[in-house]
Order: sequence, then C-alpha cells, then structure tokens
Amino acid sequence: MAKINPDFTKELSKYGAFDPNACYNCGHCTAVCSLSDEQNSFPRKMVRFSVLGLENEIQESLDPWLCYYCGECTATCPREADPGELMMSLRRYLTVKYDWTGLSGLLYRYIGVTLSAFILLALIVVGVGASLNFDLHKIMQYGHLFEMFAIGTVFLLILCPNVLHMWWLTVYKSDAKPKIKNYFKSFSDLIVHMFTQKRALSCDDNKFRWLEHLILVFSYLLLLFTTVFLNWFETNNVLIIFIGYIESIFIFLITFDFVRRRVKKDAEISTHSQPSDWFFVIWLLLMGLTAILVRLAIDFHFIDTFSWLYYLHLIVLVQWALIIVPFGKWTHFLYRSFAIYFQKVINT
Ligand code: SF4
Ligand code: SF4
Repeated sequence: MAKINPDFTKELSKYGAFDPNACYNCGHCTAVCSLSDEQNSFPRKMVRFSVLGLENEIQESLDPWLCYYCGECTATCPREADPGELMMSLRRYLTVKYDWTGLSGLLYRYIGVTLSAFILLALIVVGVGASLNFDLHKIMQYGHLFEMFAIGTVFLLILCPNVLHMWWLTVYKSDAKPKIKNYFKSFSDLIVHMFTQKRALSCDDNKFRWLEHLILVFSYLLLLFTTVFLNWFETNNVLIIFIGYIESIFIFLITFDFVRRRVKKDAEISTHSQPSDWFFVIWLLLMGLTAILVRLAIDFHFIDTFSWLYYLHLIVLVQWALIIVPFGKWTHFLYRSFAIYFQKVINT
C-alpha cells in the first residue's frame, strides 16, 4: 500500500514555488510537454504524486531529471500552478534525498548555513596563507595540490555513493529488474548525454540555451584539465596559456549571460531563482573571471603586487569544489545524465 505524507507539499515548498491547490488535473501541461507519451504523462504524474504526498513514488522516479525546464507546461497551465517549477523543486528535493551526508539538505534549506560554510572556507584559505607567510609561490603549489585532492575525494566519497543511492532508489527498488548486459549496452548513452545534454533539444525554443550549456560543459571540463593536469598558472607553454584563456573567457561570458537572464527573468527557467541557482551561476562566473585575472597578472608581471587576486581565486575555487560541486546545483548535471542512462537500462 502506498505511503502518504500529508505534509509533502509543505516540505516541497522549501525547494521552490508551486501552488498545490491550484491544479485541477486538466492535462493541458501533459498535452504540450514533448516528453509525454502513452506510458507517461509529463509533468502531470509528478504533479499528482506531489499533491497526494506519494513521497516514495517520487523518490523512486526518474521523471524529474528528464525534464529540461522549457517552461511550456507552465506557460500553458490555465491555473498558474507552475508545473515546470514543480519539476525543478523536485530535482532540488531529490538531490537532498540522494545525498548520504545530509549536508545538501542543510545547504538547500538554510541560507544562513550556506553563507556560514562559505565564510568558514574563506577564513581557512586565509589562515593557510598566513601560516605560509603569504608566500605566493608556495600557496599556488598548495592550491594546485588542493585541486587534485578535491577532485578525487569529492568524486569517491560524495558523488559516487550518491549516484549509487540514486540507482538503489530508482532501479534496484523498482519492479524492473534489468539484466547486467543492459548496463553495458546503454553505457554509451551515459557518456553522450553527460557531455552533450542533448535531451534538452526535445523542448522547443531551446536551441541557443542548449548550445550555451554545451560550450560551458566543455569549457569547464577542459579548464579543469588545463589547470589540474597542465598546471596552467605555472606553465610557460604559450599554447597551454592560450587554451586556458579561451576556456576561461567562454566560462565567464556564458555564465554572465546566465546571470543576466536570471536578473531579467526573461524566460520561465529564470523566473524562480533559488539561492542554489544564484550560487551556481555566480561562482562559476567568478571562477572564470578570477582565473583570467590571475593569468593576466602572471603574464604582465604584476602578480606579486596583486597577489590577493590569487587568494580570491583560491577562495572561490575551494568554495566551489567543497560546497557547490558535491552538495549544490552542480550535481544536477550528474543526476540528469544518470537518469537517462538508468531509464535506458530499464527499458532496453
Ligand atoms: S498543472 Fe495546470 S495544466 Fe497541469 S493538470 Fe494541473 S491545472 Fe492542468
Ligand atoms: S518544463 Fe518542459 S520538459 Fe519539463 S515538464 Fe514542463 S513542458 Fe515538459
């Protein structure tokens, strides 16, 4: 028998805006959603599950991750229930449910906790700098070591167990018992969707946003590679320096456009920005901007005078790597890709 949580919509309201009393189940949203088919009514099924408080069914569903927030359902809803934002709120809620540490829940629900964590990490960076007598060369070496340590640790201790938890909820607990060979057969889908997010093209009027996302994903991953494995800040190789500039400039320009859109609220996707959305775009913008400034300071020989630029970059980097990547909106990139993969594994 299905377990009902009568307070579910109240809990969900902490993750975004949705009016549970407005929906009268007319089905307009399902008719316009390009993801709907005979088996699945997007997003109405999730709307009904939420209104009824069917928490377990929601946690075991992949549907919220398959939605790319084109906003067409919201624009069509005659009751202004905002089903597109409901799907976004469910994604935030599920991010919290998958996270074994419980820290995502604190950071998503309590802005004071998030800000305290940001301040604490900034103080730790300054403290480490002071303990090294603000020796810039040494601090840059530590910064480089931190990048390698953070990538490995966050991946192994946080992201892998959380994806496993997602699999346990959505695949293992489901009635579908996929064969092992399905995991291998569908693996290429995981890679393709992770790097291209091409399902976003299912929504109309989404081509430019998709292209921006694609360039951002590649620029971000390549900059990570350039700084961690090619040591961008300390190399003298002109080609590596040039590539790093291009990657950082793309990150800065695209995230600047994302921030602009959220400020202007010129599309459904940018209408209801939660703190986690702002942190994601602003920190990515700061990463791109401070990376460019640090490298310019090195190339034009004023880094010793403006060494604080590197400290600023390091603070942004540490906050990004230890808060936003493991517990914030960055994880949506991962869960979306795995949701498509798991769906393919189940349906193959
Ligand atoms: S969310 Fe809006 S469009 Fe969808 S079923 Fe409810 S009232 Fe109709
Ligand atoms: S936002 Fe777009 S993809 Fe998501 S449920 Fe609504 S219509 Fe479908």
